Formats: sequence, C-alpha cells, structure tokens
Amino acid sequence: MKRKCDVLVVGAGPGGSSAARHAAEAGADVLIIEKRQEIGSPVRCAEGVSRAWFEEIKVPVDKKWVAKEVDGAKLVSPSGSSFYVDEKMAGNEVGMVLERHLFDKAMAANAARAGAEIMLKTSATGVVKEGDKVVGVTASSYGEPLAIEAKIVIAADGFESQVARWAGLDTSLTQNDITTCFQYRLTGIDIEHMYTEFFIGSAAPGGYVWVFPKDEDTANVGLGILLSQLKKPGEVKGYLDKFIKDNERFTKGQPLEAVSGAVSVSHPLDETVMDGMMLVGDAARLIDPITGGGIAHACLSGMYAGKVAAKALEANDFSKEFFQEYETLWRNRLEDKLWRNWMAKEKLVTITDEQFDLVIETLAEAGVDKMSVYNILKVIKEELPDLVKDFEEFI
Ligand SMILES: Cc1cc2nc3c(=O)[nH]c(=O)nc-3n(C[C@H](O)[C@H](O)[C@H](O)COP(=O)(O)OP(=O)(O)OC[C@H]3O[C@@H](n4cnc5c(N)ncnc54)[C@H](O)[C@@H]3O)c2cc1C
Repeated sequence: MKRKCDVLVVGAGPGGSSAARHAAEAGADVLIIEKRQEIGSPVRCAEGVSRAWFEEIKVPVDKKWVAKEVDGAKLVSPSGSSFYVDEKMAGNEVGMVLERHLFDKAMAANAARAGAEIMLKTSATGVVKEGDKVVGVTASSYGEPLAIEAKIVIAADGFESQVARWAGLDTSLTQNDITTCFQYRLTGIDIEHMYTEFFIGSAAPGGYVWVFPKDEDTANVGLGILLSQLKKPGEVKGYLDKFIKDNERFTKGQPLEAVSGAVSVSHPLDETVMDGMMLVGDAARLIDPITGGGIAHACLSGMYAGKVAAKALEANDFSKEFFQEYETLWRNRLEDKLWRNWMAKEKLVTITDEQFDLVIETLAEAGVDKMSVYNILKVIKEELPDLVKDFEEFI
C-alpha cells in the first residue's frame, strides 16, 4: 500500500498531536501514524503539569482530563523536614494532575478537528531518504506494509525514538542521561491531597520520589533513579517498595496500576532538524533533566514545528535551513533552562543526604518566592555556593 501527504507525524503523543493540529489548522494535509491501538494508553507518566503552560500551548484547560488540581507543592528532605510552596509560585510540574489517557486523546481530537487524519496500529519501520533528505517512511499498518511519501516528516515518537536515528541523527544517550522510573497508582493512602509531594535524597539517587494525588486517598507514587546509579534496571522497583515500606503513610496502600518507563535527562540534541524532517518532544530530548517533566515541552515544540511546517509548505522549501526557524523558536524558549538543569542534575548525584537536609532547611528559612528549579538554585547559590560553583554562570 502507498500513501502521500504533506506532513507525516510519527507518534500521537502530546508532541505529535500538537504538531499535527497546528500544521492542519494552517491548511496542511496531515497524517498521524500511531503504533498503539489506543492513543494515550497505557499511561507511562506521573501526570503532573503546571496550569501556567496551557495558555502558551494554546490548549484551554478542560476538567474532563484533569484528575486533580492542587494548591501547591511540598519538598521533603531525607530527614523529613519540608517546606510548602503555593501553586502560583510552584514550578513546571505543579498545579494539576492529569488523566493522561484522556488528555492525549483530547490533543489528538484537536488535531483531527483541525483536519488531520489518524491511523492507529501503524508503526514506522524505517525512513526513506533521497540523498540527505527525508522523503517519507516505511510502515506497517495493521500488519500490512505501507509506504508513506511526505514533504515533511515530524518525528514525535517519544523517548525511544527510532525515526531520528534511522534518518542518521545521533540521539544516543549515556547511562548518566537516562532516568529509570517505576510507579504505582496507590489507593487507601494518607496523602496531602492538595499538594504534590517531592522527596529528595538517597531514596532515589540522582532523582526523586513523587506523590501526585489523583483524589483524596489515591496518588501516583513513583520514583526515578539515574540509570548510572543502578546495578541493574529492575532495582528501581526495590527502591520504591522500600520507600513505601519505610513511610507508614503509604504502607497500607494497595496498587491499582504499576508503571515502568524511562525518561531522558540529557541536554538537548545538537540538531533537531534535517532536510525533510523535524524532531519534537521527547524525540528531540526536550525533557527537563531535573524534574523529568516533558508534557508541556512536547506540546510547545509540537506547536512550533507544526507552524513552521505550514510555512515551509507555503514556501515549498523543506530544507534544513528553512527548518532553522523551528530550532530557533524552541531554543530561545527552552534551551538555557535545559542546559542549566542538566548541569544541576550532574551535581545532584554527588549531594549527600546531609547536604540535602541543609538545602531544605536553608530554603525553608530563606523562602523561595517561586519553586522553580532556577529559584531554588538561586537560593543555594547565595547560601551554599560550593554546591553550584561548576555552573554558577547559568544561575
Ligand atoms: C514514569 C514517567 C513519569 C513521567 N511523569 C511526568 C510528569 O509528571 N510530568 C511531565 O510533564 N512529564 C512526565 N513524564 C514525561 C512525559 O511522559 C513525556 O515527556 C511526554 O509524554 C512526551 O510527549 P511526546 O509526545 O514527545 O512523546 P510520547 O508521549 O512518548 O508519545 C510518543 C508516541 O509515539 C508512538 N510511537 C513510538 N514509536 C512509533 C513508531 N515507530 N511508529 C508510530 N508511532 C510510534 C508511541 O506509541 C507514543 O504514542 C514522565 C515519563 C515517565 C516515563
């Protein structure tokens, strides 16, 4: 079977659907292919996101895909001291806990309403190139081979992205730039249901434990640990089981769901465009290296790529040079933060539980007017300068 389209989007996650919607809204003929049989399922996410992003990514908040809105965030040190930050002052992954399976479908529905076509159970299996230029993909659709010719391919195929690699871009990651995650949806637990909680320290080396409420006694309780800190990837479940066993608030909880997955915690790729192709979201390694949050960045980069794709069609120019506008848009908005947080993440691995206790005590005393990674680092720079001296010019 053969198909032709202007813009082919590989992957119907938030990044792909956002790209598809914005290209289709500008009149492009857009096809999305998604390897799974259901968009947004199974969920591999803690589902935390800030309300503040939705205006920027042009998605009106809909209660249908919001599980819980919270008042703020609580940061807990290894010895149990903590401080609270109001939602308005909290950072990127604080404010709302989504129903990701519904959110992803709503994003795809927005793309469909704008005119994009969606094919489920259709996996890209290779990239077709003419010289250096990407001109389509080979795919398997419901088990049948399919060749898709496209003027522009948008790779939105997530953390495990193969499309970019098949096209010849280096997307490899070191063990220090991958965080392995494990999460239970636990019910019957004692949670602060109006707060998302973050536990830092040796409970999750190089990462953190999250407790994101879904309702009054149910939460996504999970953790992420740097792959380089694990003897084997399966160990991550043991860390979470230990955290739950050691915290009597959670020991009586029963699991409704178990989720394992990984996120990149790298700096962004050197290049996210080539002739005929743009990468968005996790495929472009746009996850925040400190928080592991990538939903909003995927939506934002998807929006930028969709708009630039529409302009490229108008100009009939699908060159890497034309797609520099996309690189510039996301780099201007996100790059400094991603590099700074990547460097901070490198440092986090070396911080002892005693130092973490000191950091939380210092933050509680000094107060942070906004719980962004940046503001926390600013307080640390003032009070504990040795901890951030390797990258202080970014703060
Ligand atoms: C355990 C865990 C917890 C997380 N918690 C949070 C959080 O609380 N907040 C937050 O902001 N982020 C979180 N993230 C990260 C977040 O899930 C991602 O950043 C976000 O989903 C990125 O969106 P995306 O569209 O780039 O990729 P994805 O959502 O991964 O979508 C990629 C899509 O491409 C499809 N696909 C892949 N390969 C192919 C192919 N060959 N052909 C066709 N389709 C293909 C996949 O099936 C998938 O649907 C978490 C991640 C994990 C693993």
